[in-house]
Amino acid sequence: MSAGPVAFPAQLVTLLRGSSRLVALTGAGVSQESGLRTFRDAHPSTGSGRAGLWSQHKPEDLASPEAFRRDPKLVWDWYAWRREAVKAVRPNPGHYALAEMEQHVPGFTLITQNVDGLHRMAGSQNVLELHGNIQRVRCAECYTFTEVWDDDTESVPRCRVCGGLLRPDVVWFGESLPRDQLEAAVEAARACEVFFSIGTSGVVQPAASLAFAAHNRGAVVVEINAEPTPLTQKADHVFHGRSGEILPRLVEAVWKIT
Ligand SMILES: [Zn+2]
Repeated sequence: MSAGPVAFPAQLVTLLRGSSRLVALTGAGVSQESGLRTFRDAHPSTGSGRAGLWSQHKPEDLASPEAFRRDPKLVWDWYAWRREAVKAVRPNPGHYALAEMEQHVPGFTLITQNVDGLHRMAGSQNVLELHGNIQRVRCAECYTFTEVWDDDTESVPRCRVCGGLLRPDVVWFGESLPRDQLEAAVEAARACEVFFSIGTSGVVQPAASLAFAAHNRGAVVVEINAEPTPLTQKADHVFHGRSGEILPRLVEAVWKIT
């Protein structure tokens, strides 16, 4: 599968070596390389076992406030199933390369659209989670987070503070992104020298606009993705392929000089 060593432009290598403000935005492609299926993939038209069981539902029927109001137990069970799927996967070399990059760049911000928590598991520290984290559970009413709950086969567990229903701390269709995370992401994108867009289709807003914001402020934009995206034409450097192969080589080329 490997197309041999990736050649990185000397200009990019030099820039990264001297960079002190860097942003990396990651999307579903990065998680997919760990074997985690995307939202769409998790809904095969024909499936087997538990995956097949959920295939009769559209994403909007499982991941929206309306769905939760209509059938909280269905939504809770689906997320319980997805949480288990996430527990079965591990960070891939791309996740680890990003964690290592953070060690070399003083002002490093990782912005992710993924809810699986794999970046933190790989050692990344400064992580902004635009779509929440599937492993976190909070009250749907009073926002209190909880680490423990009574799993009941009949009903959705309730908040110990107010008695409200518990839900995953992820952003559903029709909900706005966590404001603190988004504001920090916009700020980092506007101030960075280099902006990486990795494994993201570049169509999910407002995340997609971050790359353009960085570009407009004069940052060098680097895209790493399996296929071209709306960002490709504006990017200064484009690498088509797997981030789990390209990122470790880039880190080696830039920071591991002998
Ligand atoms: Zn509550």
